Amino acid sequence: MIVTTAQLFQEAYGRYAVGAYNINNMEQALGLFQGHIEAQAPFIIQLSKGARKYANARVLEAIIRAVESEYPEAIFAVHLDHGDEQTCYDCIDSGFYSSVMIDASHETFAENVAITRRVVERAHAKGISVESELGMLGGVEEDIKVDEKHAMLTDPDEAQAFVEASGCDSLAVAIGTSHGAYKFAGSQGLHFDRIEAIQAALPGFPLVMHGSSSVPQSEVQRINAAGGALNPNAKGVDDSQFGRAAKLGVTKVNIDTDGRLVWTRVHREFFRDHPEGFDFRTPGKEYVKAYADFIVDKSRKLGSAGHLEEVRAAVM
Ligand SMILES: [Zn+2]
Repeated sequence: MIVTTAQLFQEAYGRYAVGAYNINNMEQALGLFQGHIEAQAPFIIQLSKGARKYANARVLEAIIRAVESEYPEAIFAVHLDHGDEQTCYDCIDSGFYSSVMIDASHETFAENVAITRRVVERAHAKGISVESELGMLGGVEEDIKVDEKHAMLTDPDEAQAFVEASGCDSLAVAIGTSHGAYKFAGSQGLHFDRIEAIQAALPGFPLVMHGSSSVPQSEVQRINAAGGALNPNAKGVDDSQFGRAAKLGVTKVNIDTDGRLVWTRVHREFFRDHPEGFDFRTPGKEYVKAYADFIVDKSRKLGSAGHLEEVRAAVM
């Protein structure tokens, strides 16, 4: 059942975070639903501009609807990830999305407010909620590259002023995470003092954490042992910190890179061990199972596991 993102946030706020996962193909969608049913967790499916281009937006929509019919007990929202203004309007008008993200974080504060405001007006008229972003996250997101050294943490007062002026429903904040597989060289982690200050400025308001993959060393090592050449020092967010962040108002956690690592590990190991193989359904099946297991583990770390029936009771 597709619900609004606002409904999920209302249930989760201050208690647990809802995982938001990007999907690009059928195998990911199958693993995503299987894992969340096993974990009994609500979730958010994210479609990025890149995914909508790769698989075609209508194909992705059809995959989601078809897999949903196989797992009718699932409860989830559908979200546009990192949209520009026009893509937001396309998604709002399509009638398929629960929420959209307008990413004008590269603009000036005033311009970011103005663009977000316009998207909010169009979205709210259709009962769709809007995520916006303030402060630059490091790393690579779609075609925007931000130097680590220019990445700034979100200012709490600015965040408060931004939410008030733009009318957005949730805010992606820069609190120490970054996009991609190469996050932290050293031992940098989440800036809890900053999250606390933002929550104090915006009590009850859902915060979103982007670039929240863990990039497990074991996964990187297995990929490299099977012919990969990923940076062995790559490191992400310690996912044991999700619970603490959720208590401070982080209600949506975006995880993409880790899922790509699962795909790469399964397929590299399969073809290393079966050099004669060419039936992609064999590793494909293994990947669906591995991705479902990965989702179960993440749901437990996010605290969303076990909340499915409670959410169903609240939205029915
Ligand atoms: Zn992002």
